[in-house]
Amino acid sequence: MTFFVSFATVPTPGGLNEDYVAVGPDWALVLDGATAPTGIESGCIHNVPWLVGNLASCLASRLCTESSDLADILASAIEETTSRHADTCDTRNPASPSSTVAMARYDGSTIEYLTLADSPIVVGAHNGRAHAIVDDRTAHLPSYKPEDVRAARNSPGGFWVASTVPDAAYQAVVGTLRTADVSRLAILSDGSARYVDRFGLSDWSGLLNVMEMSGPGELIERVRAAEMLETEDDRRTRKLRGKVHDDATAVLLLPVAKGAGTAQRVHG
Ligand SMILES: [Zn+2]
Repeated sequence: MTFFVSFATVPTPGGLNEDYVAVGPDWALVLDGATAPTGIESGCIHNVPWLVGNLASCLASRLCTESSDLADILASAIEETTSRHADTCDTRNPASPSSTVAMARYDGSTIEYLTLADSPIVVGAHNGRAHAIVDDRTAHLPSYKPEDVRAARNSPGGFWVASTVPDAAYQAVVGTLRTADVSRLAILSDGSARYVDRFGLSDWSGLLNVMEMSGPGELIERVRAAEMLETEDDRRTRKLRGKVHDDATAVLLLPVAKGAGTAQRVHG
């Protein structure tokens, strides 16, 4: 069993990309960095792209060489990333830059996955159905005032993200799938997942169809088009939180039996 992998990552129009994507022969990961709200002191001199770039490099080096549990890999990567700015920044500040993590590692028989905070992993079955694996704690906070979100971050009863607390890794949603049961798999930042959960343009299966037939870039193009059409009224009546535009990343994994299929399957 081998896997065809394709991906796209696109920043918010006019902005820096605070998402990050990295792919190896048998793993893939998506990070979605979080900006500290205006007026909250982070104690860190770095920007969010620094955080996601460093965390991705620490994760990638481990995924290339280690076979430890994904949660152990993430804990150790958070620890190393934190050490990279411990001399210049107050890494004990709870508002230090942070990131979601969604990753998968696969071989011929199993797909291991881990998702922390709101970057979903979408699993397609051979019967055409699909479901999303999510860590939805950020969707159920009692308050979204900046100071309350700050207090809920990386604390029991709140939500967990990759920042400066290695133990956050053990709060992630983890599991293993049988490769034979999976027809396709997507790893998304919420900027791409909003195709389904904000704009309702399809269900998860429809999202996988777009990615498989036209590529991950087409999914993000369609999200951008929907963002342009959303009005202030929509946001008010549906009580939508979050940004009008968001960085968007999408990775598609297609398990392909040895000797079968071609790259055309990815690009339609
Ligand atoms: Zn820093």
